[in-house]
Amino acid sequence: MPLDSYVNTFNRYLQGRFGERVARISFETGIPCPWGRCVFCDNHAFVPRGAIVPGRRGWESRLIDQKKRMVSRYGAHKYLAYFQSGTSTSGDPRKLGRMYELASKQEDVVGLIVSTRPDYVTEDIVRRIVQSAPSGDFDLWMEIGLQSAHERSLEFLGRGHDAGAYESAIEMIHRAGEGRIKVTAHTIAGIPGETTADAVETARFATRHPAVQGIKIHHLQVYHGTRLADRFEAEPFALPEEDEYIVLLGEMLKVLPPHIVVMRFFTEGPRNRIIAPQWYSNTQELLKKLEEHCKNNTITQGVGRST
Ligand code: SF4
Repeated sequence: MPLDSYVNTFNRYLQGRFGERVARISFETGIPCPWGRCVFCDNHAFVPRGAIVPGRRGWESRLIDQKKRMVSRYGAHKYLAYFQSGTSTSGDPRKLGRMYELASKQEDVVGLIVSTRPDYVTEDIVRRIVQSAPSGDFDLWMEIGLQSAHERSLEFLGRGHDAGAYESAIEMIHRAGEGRIKVTAHTIAGIPGETTADAVETARFATRHPAVQGIKIHHLQVYHGTRLADRFEAEPFALPEEDEYIVLLGEMLKVLPPHIVVMRFFTEGPRNRIIAPQWYSNTQELLKKLEEHCKNNTITQGVGRST
């Protein structure tokens, strides 16, 4: 059975919601992240090249090119405008609102995703995200970087916020967004010093508020040129091997409520930037392994929620 049979994947959600393939097109605000101090961060690795800045010269023709690429690569004719890069709620709220609106109101765009840190969620920005949506059935998401429910891990990662900031942000989105915005929690699994139980606790914590409808789970990668790379080179630390990570993912999936959309399972940075861990499988092979793991161990999303 495909992975969709065991897990509520993003593909499964999009098929159910829109009845066809929907692709994400990367947008950005063009404003650098105001924090810039997460030890693992290499924005070049996380964000696809060619993200579009709405309103900047030539952006509309670049959007047309991107749409053509999505048709030929995925057969997708509908799109989500995805502000993925950096902290996409940092800057002048009025200008940001205009950018969200420009991206949202393009033909065949059926949803908007805005990614940010929890300490950059304001009532004003939440309202502008809601207002940017065209009338009708439009999908609105905010992706909030929690990374871990554990303070010592947040310190290790240099996040500069605590887990309480995540809870406050979700509550703000829920209230000011009038229930229209769905939240995706962005998490990292396999952080040095964390046990399986710690990662499972993060999965539970991240998804316990009703506004949270999705989760992204990433494995920690050490990229060239990051502060984490300096640390790793000075004193290497253990990161899960791919088979260990698959087992860890399985444990996290067990405690996720079945309605939560699992939007990502692995980090997909370019190989030439990665110092560690050096895994041998590509993303498709990893997904296949996860599917096999679920099958062989009778794991379905939420199966272990009472334990
Ligand atoms: S908040 Fe995001 S973009 Fe900014 S430094 Fe941290 S990981 Fe990078």
